[in-house]
Amino acid sequence: MAVLIDGKKVAADIREELKSKVEWLKSLSVRVPGLVTIMVGDNPASQSYVRSKGKACAEIGMFSKIEILPEETSEIKLLEMIDSYNSNDDFDGILVQLPLPKHINENKIIERISPEKDVDGFHPVSVGNLVIGKNTFYPCTPNGIVQLIKHYKIETAGKHVVVVGRSNIVGKPIANMLLQKKEGANAIVTVCHSAADVLSRYTKDADILIAAIGRANFITADMVKDGVAVIDVGINRIDDDSAPKGYKITGDVDFENVSKKASFITPVPGGVGPMTIAMLLQNTFLAYIKITKQKLA
Ligand code: NDP
Repeated sequence: MAVLIDGKKVAADIREELKSKVEWLKSLSVRVPGLVTIMVGDNPASQSYVRSKGKACAEIGMFSKIEILPEETSEIKLLEMIDSYNSNDDFDGILVQLPLPKHINENKIIERISPEKDVDGFHPVSVGNLVIGKNTFYPCTPNGIVQLIKHYKIETAGKHVVVVGRSNIVGKPIANMLLQKKEGANAIVTVCHSAADVLSRYTKDADILIAAIGRANFITADMVKDGVAVIDVGINRIDDDSAPKGYKITGDVDFENVSKKASFITPVPGGVGPMTIAMLLQNTFLAYIKITKQKLA
């Protein structure tokens, strides 16, 4: 039976450490790190993510603000708001909740955020630095995965990591992070996507399998080898009349059966999800440190 990777616990420890750092700043009567989250429209899932980010900031004593703009907000208006936060010294991190309404060009918005405040790690400068192996703001979900792998001392050097999914927010960055020639990485990485006709040809060879697909229970036990370490990024809602909300959250991996073959596995919920917010807080703290150092230099 697999070792359960407890993302909730690892994330709680990271948040606790950040909380004591923020308390220390408060004891010095200096400014604390600040994060602004900008959301356009009223997508319920985005609203819930934005609320939990605000709550997480408050719990560790960081300053946070949530800007909710109407669906019809123009691209220009949003760009102007980003400009104002780029030059607002109370905020170290700027996060624009995605997806944005169709009339707004997401790339243009992401590129307008100052790379110094790019705590989501989606700006082309951050992405470029990540690819060439320079220290940068790593995107939160991939960074959370790397932290879990390190925490559980799962060997990556020379191991075959198979990533299923090639999105800009999960698949591509995690593949690039684990490919780097450094400690906690140095893996042989394969990235799969929907054009793979027989996906199991790749997944069966994985020492570490990272599933970021968005399809409930898609990875089944016959698709993995004994001893694989499984990181399930998926968050899928499936109808469940017995659940109070009428649905339950499940991952991309058939947990019940795959866990019988795996050496390590993340549950959903309670695996990668909690790490994503912890990494956002960590990035905001890092942005604060960098910005403060620059001011003192
Ligand atoms: P995307 O929809 O952007 O990407 C999904 C990827 O899966 C695509 O690359 C797609 O291929 C690939 N895919 C789809 N079907 C297949 C298939 N049959 N075989 C192989 N590959 C396939 O999703 P995200 O990366 O944004 O998110 C993935 C999942 O992770 C979602 O459930 C999301 O909710 C969750 N998530 C969880 C987070 C967390 O904090 N835990 C954070 C972010 C996401 P193609 O490119 O060819 O279309």
